[in-house]
Amino acid sequence: MSKIRLLFASSEVYPFAKTGGLADVGYALPKALSQYHEVEVVMPLYQSIDRDLYNIVSTGEKRLVKMGAASYEIELFQTSYEGLLYTFVYSAVLCDVEFLYGTALAGYENNAIRFGIFNRAIIEILSANTYDAVHLNDWQCGLVPLLLRENPSITTKALFTIHNLAYQGTFPSSTLEECGIDASYFTLDKMEFYGQVSFMKAAIAYADMVTTVSPTYAKEILSPEFGCGLEGFLASHEIKLIGVLNGIDQDHFSPHNDPLLTQSYNDLKGKQVNKSDYLKSVSLKGVKKPLFLFIGRLVSQKGVDLLIEILPKLASLECNIAILGEGEEQYVHSLQELSHRYNTIYFHQGYDEKLSHQLYGAADFLLMPSLFEPCGLNQLIAFSYGAIPIVHHVGGLADSVKKIEKFDPDSPYGFGIVFERPTGRSFMNAINKAMNLYDDKLHYNTIAKHNMKGDFSWSESALVYGALYKSIIKGKHV
Ligand code: ADP
Repeated sequence: MSKIRLLFASSEVYPFAKTGGLADVGYALPKALSQYHEVEVVMPLYQSIDRDLYNIVSTGEKRLVKMGAASYEIELFQTSYEGLLYTFVYSAVLCDVEFLYGTALAGYENNAIRFGIFNRAIIEILSANTYDAVHLNDWQCGLVPLLLRENPSITTKALFTIHNLAYQGTFPSSTLEECGIDASYFTLDKMEFYGQVSFMKAAIAYADMVTTVSPTYAKEILSPEFGCGLEGFLASHEIKLIGVLNGIDQDHFSPHNDPLLTQSYNDLKGKQVNKSDYLKSVSLKGVKKPLFLFIGRLVSQKGVDLLIEILPKLASLECNIAILGEGEEQYVHSLQELSHRYNTIYFHQGYDEKLSHQLYGAADFLLMPSLFEPCGLNQLIAFSYGAIPIVHHVGGLADSVKKIEKFDPDSPYGFGIVFERPTGRSFMNAINKAMNLYDDKLHYNTIAKHNMKGDFSWSESALVYGALYKSIIKGKHV
C-alpha cells in the first residue's frame, strides 16, 4: 500500500483556534504526514475564526444531523491553507459561543450536544468520501469510533489519540438520549463511568488503535496515580495502546525565521537582543541575570502550586522571572499578588501567541514543574529557542528532556535540568543547579546551542503514525 487517504479531526487547530498543545499538533502533524499521504483536516468553524482572513468559504453543503429527538443544521466550509485542505463544520449550537469549551471554571453545559454534532458531521464526511483512516483527537472526537461501529457501510479505520486523560468528556446519563446513542452502551465495559457517560471511554472501547502523546504517558496511565479512574479500562485495551512522542513544527517555532520575534536569531548573541528588548518592555532590570520563564495553562496539572510555593525564594536570587498564562482564578490572584510584591517577577495574565514567542526568544530557562504531562510542547519549543528547560521527570518530559549531567554532544536529544519529585525542595534544587549552570557560561552556551540544533520535529513520529494507520487498515494491532 502506498499513500493513505487520511481525515484528521481535531477540535482545535492552529492558527484557526488554539487553547493549547492540541492545536499545535493539529497544525503540525497533518502537515508532516502530508509529505507521504493524502491528508485532510476537519474542525469546527467557531465564531472566533476569521473567515475572511483564511478565505474560508461554504461548500454549499447543508445537512440536517439527527440526534435523539432533535435535528441540527450543519454547513460545511473549506479552505486551503499551506497546501492542505481544511473542512470546517458550522452549526450554530457548536460554533456560536465565546470560548471553545467553556470558561476556566466550567465547560459549557451543552458540550456533549455540541461535540456530538461535530462527531456526527465527521461521520457524514466519512460516508460521503472514501478515507482509509480517520485520526481522532481527544474526547471531543470520542463518539466517532462508536458511530463507525453503528455505520458498518463506512470502512474507514479509526485511530484515537489521548492528549490528556484528565479531560474525558463525562456527562450526565441523559446525554445518551440527547446524542442519539442506544442505552445498551451504558455499561461499565462501554461508556458508563461512575453513573455518567464518557466520550473518552467510547473512543477507547471502539477505536482500532489508541495512542498517547508520549511512550512514558502510555505506561503511566495504566496506574491509579495517572489513570484518572480509567487505568483498569485502559489495561483491558492495552493491546491497542501505544505511545508516540509529539513533535513541533520547527518552521513555525524557529528563532531563525520568526516574524513574531522582535529580531530573528541564529545564535545566543541574537537571543540576547530579544532578552534585552523584552526586559526593557516590562521594566525588568539586569540583562546579565538569568531570565526564568513559565508559560502555560494555570491549572494544578502544570505544577502552578509548586511554582507559587517557590517564587518568593526564586525572587530572592539574582534573576528575573516572567510568567504568561491564564486559568484558574486562585492562581491568577496569587501570581498577581507575587508580581506586585517582587519587582523581579512579571506576570502577563492571558493568552498571547505573539508574546509567547517573544518570551521563548528572551528566556534563559523554562520552568515546567508539571505534576503530570502527557507530552508537553513548551520544552521542545524552548530547546529550539535556546532556553534550557527545567522539568519534573514525568510523562513526555521524561521522554524528551535528558539530564545535563549526562550531556553528550553527539546525542540527538535535548538536555535540561530534571528533578525527580514534585516538591518545592526538589524544584528549588533544580533552580539552584540552573543558577550555577548560568554562571558557567561556557557550559550553559554549549548545552543551549546543542539544543537549538536538535531535531524536535514530527519527522520521525509522522513515520510511526503512518505505520500505525497502515497496520489498522490491514486489520492488525501495532
Ligand atoms: P497543554 O497541556 O496546554 O496542551 P502543551 O505544552 O502541550 O500544553 O502546549 C502548550 C502550547 O500552548 C504551547 O504552544 C504554548 O506555547 C502555548 N501556550 C500555553 N499557554 C499560553 C498562553 N497563555 N499564551 C500563549 N501561548 C500559550
